[in-house]
Amino acid sequence: MIEFLPLGKITEKYSDEIHRAVLRAVDSGWYLLGSEVSAFEREYADYIGTRNCVGCANGLDALWLILRAYMELGVMAPGDEVLVPANTYIASVLAISDNGLKPVLVEPKWSTLEIDEDELEKHITPRTKALMTVHLYGRLSWSPRMAEICRRYGLKLIEDNAQAHGCETLNGRRTGSLGDAAAHSFYPGKNLGALGDGGAVTTDDGTLAETVRALANYGSTQKYVFRYRGRNSRLDEIQAAILRVKLAHLDEDNSARKRIAAMYMDSISNPLVSMPQRLPEQSNVWHLFPVFCERRDELQEFLKEKGVRTLIHYPIPPHKQQCYEEWNGMSLPVTEKIHAQELSLPISPVLTDSEASQIIESVCEFE
Ligand SMILES: *Cc1c(COP(=O)(O)O)cnc(C)c1O
Repeated sequence: MIEFLPLGKITEKYSDEIHRAVLRAVDSGWYLLGSEVSAFEREYADYIGTRNCVGCANGLDALWLILRAYMELGVMAPGDEVLVPANTYIASVLAISDNGLKPVLVEPKWSTLEIDEDELEKHITPRTKALMTVHLYGRLSWSPRMAEICRRYGLKLIEDNAQAHGCETLNGRRTGSLGDAAAHSFYPGKNLGALGDGGAVTTDDGTLAETVRALANYGSTQKYVFRYRGRNSRLDEIQAAILRVKLAHLDEDNSARKRIAAMYMDSISNPLVSMPQRLPEQSNVWHLFPVFCERRDELQEFLKEKGVRTLIHYPIPPHKQQCYEEWNGMSLPVTEKIHAQELSLPISPVLTDSEASQIIESVCEFE
């Protein structure tokens, strides 16, 4: 059976280095807000290309902290609107609504799966304060035009970079440095994954970074003095030590994903299955490899019988979830079509060529 994502194998690839890093953190006697976290923050900020990086507990918190910091700084107020792609993972939307802000769901383009830039301006009102772009599946979801729209309407551009560590624009700028602030998740299955939860905020804005740092530490800027009503959201020393090892190998791991993706793109040919649109090589780090099929559930069952495990990202869009009952009647046809037809093929830095060939053959055989 070809597993969807064999995390054990991915860890094993760098196990000696990871073991050494974990022991170093354990033996240091210092477990939170110490030298591993500050070293990782510096290394990750350098990698992404921002002046600041603040570690936190997970990707949802990273998104939440950015928005809350803007609220504390008076940039946004409860009831203000944030544009977000309708086909994103629930966390992007939760971070907005949990802050008392209003998520405004914008349809993606079927061809790119990314937020439809032609739709953006129709949704902008005097209360719109930000656009949250999501580099879903590892694909760059940014353009000079998107940046220009944000500038013209005075919107903060926030990147959800949970799925696209290492993704670049045509001129080599990395996702996470393209807007005003970016949220990163280091959930184990992400391209840069910890062995537990982790997250970070990157930004060039020093005031925003300091506000995020305070909010993630109970709202404190000085021990036992509380400026904001914050929360406890910290990246721990052991995860930071592991992430430093994984970060040093991220480009190598992304190259392995790109090589598998190129094999799929070149060799999968089945009139019943549509492939994702090609982007320039540096602009897709292939967190997932989505294909589309009208008989998606049958394709998934067929592949399972052939020994290939797949997953759906995601079966139910945010506006059809019970937790957002007020949106259940909304019609977002492109989003709904993506959710009805998407199937993710296995892709990871440890997938072998022979496994990739078996997957290609199996998808081609579906009829
Ligand atoms: C994983 C993910 C998140 C949330 O990250 P966690 O670390 O799991 O909280 C947010 N947005 C997107 C697009 C994600 O894929």
